[in-house]
This record gives sequence, C-alpha cells and structure tokens, in this order.
Amino acid sequence: MATDIYSLSISARLTLDMHSLNNEGGEGNQIQTRMVDIVAADGRLYNVNAISGDMLKHIQAEHLYRIAASNEALPLCAACKLFDANRISADTAYTEQIKGKSDGEAIDLMVQTCTLDDLEGNLITADRSTPRKSVAEFGWVVGVPVDEEGRELTTTGSYFHVKYASERGGSARDAAKEEGARKANLGQIPFHRPASSGVYALVSHYEIARIGYNDIIHRYGLDDNARLARHKALLESVLYTFLQPNGAMRSAQLPHLVDAAGVISYSTDVIPAPTVSPLNPGYPRRRRSACRLRPTRRHPCGSLPSTNLQRSLACGRPRLQVRVGNR
Ligand SMILES: [Zn+2]
Repeated sequence: MATDIYSLSISARLTLDMHSLNNEGGEGNQIQTRMVDIVAADGRLYNVNAISGDMLKHIQAEHLYRIAASNEALPLCAACKLFDANRISADTAYTEQIKGKSDGEAIDLMVQTCTLDDLEGNLITADRSTPRKSVAEFGWVVGVPVDEEGRELTTTGSYFHVKYASERGGSARDAAKEEGARKANLGQIPFHRPASSGVYALVSHYEIARIGYNDIIHRYGLDDNARLARHKALLESVLYTFLQPNGAMRSAQLPHLVDAAGVISYSTDVIPAPTVSPLNPGYPRRRRSACRLRPTRRHPCGSLPSTNLQRSLACGRPRLQVRVGNR
C-alpha cells in the first residue's frame, strides 16, 4: 500500500534547554550566540536567540550523506563521497562530461549521478550557470519570545569558563606571553560562552515530487524505484536531524531536548503542504484550515511506502497530524 505524496511540511515547537548550537563568533573572550529580530504573533518586535536554516540544512545533508554512503542504491558523485561542500561542481569527471551539453542534459546527468546533488541542490558555475533547486527547505529555528499571557519563553545566559594552565608560576606566565605561545593559545584562558533555553519555532518543507525531477526539460531523470529509495532516505535524514541536531559546543553543552510537538502535513496532489509558523500560537488550527483546500489537478507525485517511518511521519488526520511529547 503506497500513498502518493506531492509535498510534505513540518511545523513544530521544540523546547531546547542549555544549548549553544549556533554562534556568530567571538569578541575578545566573549563568544556570541545568534540573535535575530522577529515580529511575534502579538505584532511586536523581539530580539531572540535562533539557529540558522543553513545550520539545519547542513545537519540534514550530513545525515543524508551517511545514509547514502552505506547504501548502493543511493549513488554519490566523487565530491559528495568526501562530503565536499562544492558537491558535484568539484567532481572533475562530471564537469568534463557536461562540456558542450545543454543545461537540461547537465541536470539529467547530475540527478542520475548523485543523490546529494539531487536532493540538496547546487549551482553549476563552471563555464555556465545551471541551478538545481534543493528539495529540502529549512527556515530559521527561532525562539518564541512570549506566550499568550506575555510571559517570556526564551532566554540566553553567559557563563564563565576557563582553560586552566597546570603550571601558573611567574616563569610559566612569562612564557605564555611570548608571541608563539599566544598564537597557539597555550596560556590560561578565561572566557564567557552562551547557553540558551526556551521554546523554539521550526518550519521546514520538502518538495517530494521533485525528487529526480529535471526542472529544465520537465521530466524525471530517474525511474520510480530510484526515486522511492531517495524519498525514504530523505525522510530518514530528516528524522535524524531532529534526533541528533548536530551543532556547536555539543561536547560540553549537549542540548536538552525537553519536548517536540507540532504538525506534519502532506499533500497528495499539486498543492503545497501548508507551513504556518509555530511563532503563532494558533498554528495547528490554522494548518487544519489550510488542509481543507482541495486540489483539482493531477501532477506526478512521489511515492511513500507503508513503513514505520511513514506511520511516524504520516498518520492520518487532517491530512496528517503528529504529536511527540507529553503535552
Ligand atoms: Zn554530489
């Protein structure tokens, strides 16, 4: 039993405590976390902690790379076998092959050669400008500033940390002041680093029907079995992204994932699965309203098998709703 999928979206609120997954950099001995300005549901502007969509996309792509590297049905180009960020643009065999070929032929060869380039997208710029749009889309994960009663939901603290030098006598301090020692950070180094706790809003969308689809010549470059294998791998990588959100400072500030609750929706015909931001406290209800829209046209759709993953990602009403957690 299989269900045709056109697109799928996830909107969720995550309660994350004491994490430092995404930092801007450092000023002096102060590490600075990401802060962004957003307008909340009450119409007011807030400055809140956030994790960039780039960060989430990278995490999901890395999980997909690992899944593909261990499955012969999911080919990778020479560059993606090394998880090179340039993807197929750094595969010299591919760039030689597409010389003199049309953009449509270059995209066909790309989707046939590499699972990662097909699903994560790329821009071929060697003697041409040929884009491959990503199937997976992630928004910023942003702190929900206040609840409906105006109580704060997200905050960031700064915590003192020091790398101790075992020898702290006068001679050791003088040695640590030398130019080479300072560049190598060999001395005792005090610094402050951030940790954020709160409720975060997440939105992501997956254009399932575009797996293996050549947007330039408007046909699939893969057969149904190959597309299905990539579809399953994509969903698995998304699941792992939420199970293990790799990011900064995990060695000493592994995030406490206290709760994850939200809505997964999919469309079975040519209508985008709705994404209503969980920054709006009414987002589950608004999502249900959007799901009542009925598509009237047919379009090639992905195919999702009846697996445990499907049941966890797609369990029915209205067009799909899943809750994780205890609320
Ligand atoms: Zn690749």
